[in-house]
Amino acid sequence: MTPTPLNLPDAEHAEDWVRTRAADGLARTRELADRLRTDPPADALGALEVWDELSLELSNVAAVGSLLSNVHPLEAVRDVAEHAEQDAMRLQTELNLDRAIYDVFAGLDRADLDAQAGRLLDKVLESFTRSGVDRDDETRARVAAINERVTEIDQEFGRNIRDDVRTIRVTTDRLAGMPDDWLAAHPADDAGLVTVTTDYPDAIPVRMFAHDPEVRRDLTVQFLTRGWPQNEPLLTELFDLRHEMATLVGYDDWASYDADVKMIGKGPAIPEFIDRIAAAAESPMRSDLEALLERYRRDVPDATGIDSADGPYYQELVRKEQYDVDSQQVRTYFGFDRVRQGLLDVTGRLFGLRYDPVTDVVLWADDVTAYDVHRVDDDAHLGRIFLDLHPRDGKYKHAAQFTLTEGVTGRQLPEGVLVCNFPAGLMEHDHVVTLFHEFGHLVHHVLAGHGRWTRFAGVSTEWDFVEAPSQMLEEWAWDAAVLRTFATDGAGEPIPAELVERMRWADDYGKGVQARTQMFYASMSYFFHIERPADLRARMVELQERYSPFAYIDDTRMFASFGHLGGYSSAYYTYMWSLVIAKDLFSAFDPDDLFAPEVAGRYRDGVLAAGGSKDAADLVADFLGRPYKFDAYAAWLAR
Ligand SMILES: [Zn+2]
Repeated sequence: MTPTPLNLPDAEHAEDWVRTRAADGLARTRELADRLRTDPPADALGALEVWDELSLELSNVAAVGSLLSNVHPLEAVRDVAEHAEQDAMRLQTELNLDRAIYDVFAGLDRADLDAQAGRLLDKVLESFTRSGVDRDDETRARVAAINERVTEIDQEFGRNIRDDVRTIRVTTDRLAGMPDDWLAAHPADDAGLVTVTTDYPDAIPVRMFAHDPEVRRDLTVQFLTRGWPQNEPLLTELFDLRHEMATLVGYDDWASYDADVKMIGKGPAIPEFIDRIAAAAESPMRSDLEALLERYRRDVPDATGIDSADGPYYQELVRKEQYDVDSQQVRTYFGFDRVRQGLLDVTGRLFGLRYDPVTDVVLWADDVTAYDVHRVDDDAHLGRIFLDLHPRDGKYKHAAQFTLTEGVTGRQLPEGVLVCNFPAGLMEHDHVVTLFHEFGHLVHHVLAGHGRWTRFAGVSTEWDFVEAPSQMLEEWAWDAAVLRTFATDGAGEPIPAELVERMRWADDYGKGVQARTQMFYASMSYFFHIERPADLRARMVELQERYSPFAYIDDTRMFASFGHLGGYSSAYYTYMWSLVIAKDLFSAFDPDDLFAPEVAGRYRDGVLAAGGSKDAADLVADFLGRPYKFDAYAAWLAR
C-alpha cells in the first residue's frame, strides 16, 4: 500500500505542529536508541531495522525544521523550526559518539545479510568510526573538543567575511557604464560622493560594467582583502585542527579523511584531478585570453597580461561585442507561468512522469503549488513535490531543493520542495537554467524514495556526485528544440533557434578561463589543508601563478574571504568533478532527440532511482556500460 502524504498545518496551528512533531520524533529516536543500548535485537537485520527506524524519525525532525525555518512566513514558526533542526543535529552527533550502540553494531554477525543490508551495516559502522567512537576516552574527548572548536571557527570565519563590508566613495561621473537602475539606487551624498560597497549587488556589477579602471581597481582591492587580517589566524587554527582530527581517527591527513566517503576516494587523487582539468583547459584558456587581451590592448596598448581588476570588465565587453545577445529580448520568451509549465512538461516527458496539481492541501504561502508525482507506465504514486518559487519576507535567499520527508517503501512517501526566488513576470534565461538544475535534485529525491532503507533514500549519494544529475538536466534548458516547446513571446512566437545558438556561444565564451580559475580555488582548498603553510599569502600567490589566468594583485588576500574553506574544506574540486561526470552522462543521450525513451528510462531507473544504494561510480558505469571518462568534458571545453 502506498503511504499517504504528510498533512501540513495552517498558519494558526503551525507553531504547535512543528513543536509537537519535533518533540515526538526526538522522543521516539531516544526510545529506539535506548532499545539498541539495553535490549538490542540479537540478529543483525533486526538491529539494522531499529537503527533505520531511528534514522527516519530523526530525519523527519531535521527536514521539517530545515524547511520551515527557511520558508515559513511567520517568524515564530521559523524560530521553532530552527530549534527543531538544531536539536535533531545535536542528537545525531550524540548518537555518533555513543559507544554502547557502536558496540552492538560492531559485534553483529553479518553472515545472513543481503548485499543492501551489508552495505548499510558498513555505512553505519563507518559513521561511528569516523566520529572516533571506537577510540580511548582521552581521544574521544579530544575529538569532541576539536569538533566544537571547528564549528566555532567556521561560524566566526563566515561572520568575519559577512561583516567586513568595505566601501569606496567616488563621484557620480566616475560611474559611467553602470546600469540606470543601479545608479538610481545609488544617489550621491551631500559631499557629491557615491558609496560603493564590497557586497555582491555592488561589487559584481561595478567590476563588470564601470568604465573607470581606477574605480574597478580600488573596489577589487577592497573586495580581495575582506576578512583580513582577522581570518588568517582562524584559518591556520582550522587547518591544524582538521589535520589533528583526521590523524586521531586513523587517516594520514584531512583530505584523505574527507575524500574517503566521496566518489574521488583518496586525498592524493584531488591534485591529480586538478592538474588534469588544468591541462584540458590550457588551450581553451589561451584562446579565451587571446580574445580578452586583444580587446584589452585597444585600451592598454602595451599590456602583456590582465588581472582580476580588469578581467571581468573585458570578458563582459568581449561577450557583448562578439555575440550580441540582447538579454532584454531573451526575457520576453520566458514568462514565469509558461516556464513553470514547460519545466513540468519537459521533465514529465523525459522521465515518464505525470504531475497532478494538488489543490486540497494546506500550503505555507499562497504562491506555492503542489503536485502528486505519478509514473506514467503504471500510474504508481511516487511522491509529492512543492514549488515555492518567488521571494517573500524572511524566506531563504538562494535556490535549493529541501526535503520534507524521505521516501522509504511501504513506510513513507518522498516529499520535496523547490525553494527559489524568481520574479513572477519575465525571467532571465539564467533563472530558467537554475530552475532546471534545482528540479534535477527534486526529481532525484522523489525517484530515489522507494528503497528499503532510509540511509540510501533520496539524494544520499556521494557528495561529489550529487550535482551531476542536476548539472546534466541544465542541458535541456540550453536546447533550442526543447526551449521552443514552451519559450514563446507575447505573440506566441517560439524563441528563434538562431538566438538560442548565440546565447550558447556567449555562454561558452570564457569556459577555459573559468575552469582554470576554479582549479586555482580548488588547489588552494586542497593544499592549504594538506600543507598548512605558514605564509598563506605566499602559497596562494604560487598557486595563482600556476593555475589562474589572472595575475595576482599586490597586497590582496583573497583566501581570507574564500568562504568555501569552511564548508567545502579540502573538497572545492567537487563542483568540477560533478560537471565532468554530468558531461559524460549526457553523452549517452541523442543530441537530436533528448527525449529518446530508452536511454532516459535507463537513466531514471539506474542512476536516479538507485539513490545511495550503490557507489556513484558503479551507477555511472552501469548506465554508460563503461567507467566514467574525461572525454566528453574535454570536448565540451574545447568546443
Ligand atoms: Zn545543485
